[in-house]
Amino acid sequence: MFDTCIAGSLPKPAWLSETHKLWPQWKASGAELLEAKADATRLWVSAQERLGLDVIGDGEQARQHFVHGFVERVQGIDFEHKVEMGIRNDRYKAMVPQVVGPLALPGRVHQFEAQVARAATAKPIKFTLPGPMTIVDTVADQFYGDRVKLAFAFAELLNQEALALQADGVDIIQFDEPAFNVYMAQAADWGVAALERAAQGLTCKTAVHICYGYGIKANTDWKATLGHEWRQYEQVFPALAKSRIDQISLECQHSHVPMDLMALLAGKEVMVGVIDVANDAVESAEEVADTIGRALQFVPREKLRACTNCGMAPMDRSIAQAKLQALVAGAEIARQRWG
Ligand code: ZN
Repeated sequence: MFDTCIAGSLPKPAWLSETHKLWPQWKASGAELLEAKADATRLWVSAQERLGLDVIGDGEQARQHFVHGFVERVQGIDFEHKVEMGIRNDRYKAMVPQVVGPLALPGRVHQFEAQVARAATAKPIKFTLPGPMTIVDTVADQFYGDRVKLAFAFAELLNQEALALQADGVDIIQFDEPAFNVYMAQAADWGVAALERAAQGLTCKTAVHICYGYGIKANTDWKATLGHEWRQYEQVFPALAKSRIDQISLECQHSHVPMDLMALLAGKEVMVGVIDVANDAVESAEEVADTIGRALQFVPREKLRACTNCGMAPMDRSIAQAKLQALVAGAEIARQRWG
């Protein structure tokens, strides 16, 4: 009950890459970089085990960015000539690669770090991939000319990698779809269908993470414009409730998401964000337990998982660790209280 896990990313050590950045530069290259990525992955796997998390992630230590880590292995994309594009409905500008031809995935993307993580723990592991709609919103399309067609083209490739990750021994495959909170009508219209295409044929658990983004300034500024009630989930959750996706990860702690929206996810496992990643103040265990308690009004206890609001990539390592400790301690109080 109240299994704990991270949403996805964790801070990279300073010997691996630049810190506090969403697109950090690596500190090494070639075989040396590969070894550093493996070391950082093992470091975080063992840290999560030591802290007592129930589901372990690779912390996305082997990829530069949660979207481009996948996209850079895809054929039909020009990474040499990036263009500036407004993403998430122009919330911020990013240099993005261009789609210039038919998409294909000639090999594996995350085999290395998935196998490193799998070998490092006997606990269930979760692995994250970007969702089709979010990828479409993070590349410049010069070829398909249609966001839906492009999303389904990416979904096929994601599915190829997801099936291979399952064969690597991954227990939960999670697709990250922050774009669902920006293009709500399209998400309900075709985003969830593209997500299901990406998850087709998987027999392991499947999950989708939908959040209000990393704790970077562009996102916190945007959040300030969303008013006192954030109802974005309301449009997408009914479509997700009908989907074949097993788990939904959502932002909750310190957000203005009305808790009752979780009731729209009846039948699903809900990963409730009980740790704020946009704020360095470390939650107390009591605070975490209280958030779980409030979510229990809308999510049955056997369906509730305790999670972070989003990835922790841009944070301080020590703060991320302290927050994970609070996550585990808070879930333990909740088990004693409501178990
Ligand atoms: Zn997120």
